[in-house]
Amino acid sequence: MKSEFTEHLDLLRELILVPGVSGWEDRIRETIAGKINRYGDPNVDALGNLTLTIGDGDKHVLFIAHMDEIGLVVSHVEDDGYIRVRKVGGIDDRVLVGRTVDIYPGGSSDPVPGVIGLKPPHLMKDRMKEMGQVIKVEDILIDVGTRSRKETENLGITKLSPVILRKHFSVLANDLVATRGLDDRMGCAALIETVESIAAEGVSARITFAWSVQEELGLRGAYALGNQIRPDIAIAIDSCTTGDSPQVDFHLSAVRLNEGPVLRMFDRMAFASRGLMKQIVETARHASIPLQVAVTGGTTDGAAIQTFGVAMIPLAVPIRYVHSPTEVMSLRDYDYLVKLLTLIARNVATWSCC
Ligand SMILES: [Zn+2]
Repeated sequence: MKSEFTEHLDLLRELILVPGVSGWEDRIRETIAGKINRYGDPNVDALGNLTLTIGDGDKHVLFIAHMDEIGLVVSHVEDDGYIRVRKVGGIDDRVLVGRTVDIYPGGSSDPVPGVIGLKPPHLMKDRMKEMGQVIKVEDILIDVGTRSRKETENLGITKLSPVILRKHFSVLANDLVATRGLDDRMGCAALIETVESIAAEGVSARITFAWSVQEELGLRGAYALGNQIRPDIAIAIDSCTTGDSPQVDFHLSAVRLNEGPVLRMFDRMAFASRGLMKQIVETARHASIPLQVAVTGGTTDGAAIQTFGVAMIPLAVPIRYVHSPTEVMSLRDYDYLVKLLTLIARNVATWSCC
């Protein structure tokens, strides 16, 4: 399907297809670093957070998006070669069985494919009961085609190898994209595009762009960054789950696709800065960029940064079916987000709120 957003699409697809389970962000970090190193000297801290600082000025602003993704990690190889796993982040048991996965031995770039097997209905003793049950992560087994532990280990698979559910990237009607991993490669891509658009002209604030690690394990990278950087303002770019699909009560997260980026003002962990909200609403209004406001669940890296006494606001793109293999986002909303971030970077030095 043709889209007026081809450039966004190409970058999103490229970032999304790079694996980066929390704790194993090496490859996605290299990919992002390769796109920004012409604009400055990126830094990597001890946890693996990637940062790039642009501009000069009294005000220090942090834009942050997380580069890790949810997945699985190998916990044990059985005598018969089958692989046991644990979850990395908030992955739903219901989406595991019947999937094709890629296992990255030692985080290497050559994945070993595997499948999470499902007992055929033909062989169930009590079909009604068994088909109605959710198979828990503790009970799943990954089959890589081997018949012994030794054979599996010879493929390089060991305890701690990261496992990802294979991603499928589709463009739906109305400029929507569907794939796993929009959370938060969308944010990573938006920061790269913002760097590209402001680097040439320069900005009158000191702006640090950060691609954080281990967000899905409890905002680990963001806590470290908040402590290191101590910015005046932090803007966390992440997803905001929508209430606009038939299986969800709309009021639980009352935002919709194609109605613009979202200020996630209140979530499970944090109340965002109302002063920053006022400034961003004003900036968006001048540029005729639609905005939505969310009172929602989950949280963002912004909550961790806030604990260091920083004025913080999460700026999101609405995403349907978050943390599933079929997250859905509007390219129009994403395009508005990139435009808005660029305007914020240009204007933030003059903001009087914080
Ligand atoms: Zn996220």
